[in-house]
Amino acid sequence: MIRFVLCALLLALGSPASAAAPPNIIIFLVDDMGVMDTSLPFLTDAAGQPKRYPLNDYYRTPNMERLAARGIRFNNFCAMSVCSPTRISILTGQNAARHHTTNWINPDKDNAGPQGPPDWNWQGLKKTDVTLPHLMEDNGYRTIHVGKGHFGPRAFEGAEPKNLGFDINIAGCSIGAPGSYYGMENYGNRKGAKKPGAAVPGLEKYWGTQTFLTEALTLEAKDAVSGAVKEKQPFFLYFANYAVHAPFNSDPRFADHYKDSGKPEAAQAFATLIEGMDKSLGDMLDHLDALGVADNTLIFFLGDNGSDAPLGDEHAVACAAPLRGKKGAHYEGGMRVPFIAAWAKADSENEYQKKLPIPAGVIQPQIAAVYDLFPTILNLTGKQSPKDYIVDGSKLDTLLTGKADPERKEEFLMHYPHSPHRSNYFTSYRLGDWKVIYHYVPSVDSENSHYQLYNLKKDPFEQTNLAPTETAELRRMMEGLIAAMNREDAVYPVDKDGTTRMKPQIP
Ligand code: CA
Repeated sequence: MIRFVLCALLLALGSPASAAAPPNIIIFLVDDMGVMDTSLPFLTDAAGQPKRYPLNDYYRTPNMERLAARGIRFNNFCAMSVCSPTRISILTGQNAARHHTTNWINPDKDNAGPQGPPDWNWQGLKKTDVTLPHLMEDNGYRTIHVGKGHFGPRAFEGAEPKNLGFDINIAGCSIGAPGSYYGMENYGNRKGAKKPGAAVPGLEKYWGTQTFLTEALTLEAKDAVSGAVKEKQPFFLYFANYAVHAPFNSDPRFADHYKDSGKPEAAQAFATLIEGMDKSLGDMLDHLDALGVADNTLIFFLGDNGSDAPLGDEHAVACAAPLRGKKGAHYEGGMRVPFIAAWAKADSENEYQKKLPIPAGVIQPQIAAVYDLFPTILNLTGKQSPKDYIVDGSKLDTLLTGKADPERKEEFLMHYPHSPHRSNYFTSYRLGDWKVIYHYVPSVDSENSHYQLYNLKKDPFEQTNLAPTETAELRRMMEGLIAAMNREDAVYPVDKDGTTRMKPQIP
């Protein structure tokens, strides 16, 4: 705050023309949105051109298309396979294997699962943790949290985003899903309920109205941004829509668009949640234009884990088609998410756009992940994390300009030492074209083997397990996986005796 006042004073005294106002940053995070839940194609054909699949023709996301036309989208962007691990990775710049929140946080209890590591971080983030909003706040930014938190259980510090460096918190707490998206149902605040359950906090002024939760959050986010602009303070907005997580409440504003689709009722409702989220994005873009700050605002749009689209009985295989698997799974459908980065309005004269020129309408195929936002945003805004603090992410600057970054290690470690939540006790590791999956307890899925191995370049939809035949490659990948886990200080599930750690083995 003191630094902000000093900055404001210097500006008032007449600073050199080169001292442009720091760029505003928006992280627009969508809950449970996989890379196929959009009309914007992310996957590409062999020539690297965007390729449409049937799901792209089902969903309607014109504002994602609008944002992508202004910026770059990544088609190998990786998230953790469930909510809290990704959210904490965004705030800390660390992989879940390192920050140890490897499962979604249950607001009321330790959610380790029967053989989950007893030392996993089920209590989530603490006040004293290094976080992106703390650092942005120190740097003179107004830090605004809107929507879903899910950073810690109800009785712990992480439940309140204001403990983690946010100046403003709108509707965020420990819960991972709203009791209801409907204003007429007070967003899950039930009269006389003994337990708070899945009640969305705040937003009382919309209770008993027809305002859908996504709309209420958007109106509040716009207000908060207006407040920062009015007071000439740069803002960092972390806008985490509760959409499109279950419950699949149909948004009446868009229901007509899907009523003749032939899809199940829940799948239609899900599509309305997607479209409402997309309108939220469009409304924010319009608002930045109206406030005259679009040229100095950088937006990062992303999902927090793979799709959970309720597409019917077969949805476990079809909901992210053609990708295999869904939210929580060890397949790409569990952890591949949409990612778009764009300046809200192009301006070749803007100092920060000169520093980070983002090309329009381009697809970046290199691997990147949710923890990369932390160093990218700090670097752009001229802030460093503490010297002894370990960051697993690396700056996206080169990739954001549309170029290849030969310096970057193309890897992604995804550690899920828990059961049961859609997939059991696994660690997967991508390196270049290859992906290995280690199952701590052999499952039916893995053909009763500890190992699955895929060449994602030749087999992007993970159809042919090469573990039995490509034994040298399997060994090499398992060595990489184990080295990454050691490097990141991962915690391991325990065997049935409750104490012996189960650790990945090289075959
Ligand atoms: Ca999620």
